[in-house]
Amino acid sequence: MLSKRRYDDSDRRRQTSRNQRALHDYAQRAADLAGDSDRLRRLSEGECKACWYLGRGRIAGAAMTDADCVACGTTVTYSSTATNKLCAKCAHDLNVCIRCGGEKEC
Ligand SMILES: [Zn+2]
Ligand SMILES: [Zn+2]
Repeated sequence: MLSKRRYDDSDRRRQTSRNQRALHDYAQRAADLAGDSDRLRRLSEGECKACWYLGRGRIAGAAMTDADCVACGTTVTYSSTATNKLCAKCAHDLNVCIRCGGEKEC
């Protein structure tokens, strides 16, 4: 007979601490965004605030992935499935976010 797993104190504690970590991360991210605390690193990576602060931890597969730059069509090979819209040259020339193509100071 299959026994149904019971919910107990340890489940409650585990989930509660998971929630607390998630809330803490969220608050930390909001504070980083408000102060643009990572500005120099963000700009050196060529990303806008939205991509840098909200897009971190995006789920990316480990597979090598090709993606065409939306501006010039050059195919860029990425080491994961987290690809950018633009190639480095276009993002630089157009002075926009390499990841999404929006303005970097949004
Ligand atoms: Zn390009
Ligand atoms: Zn962006």
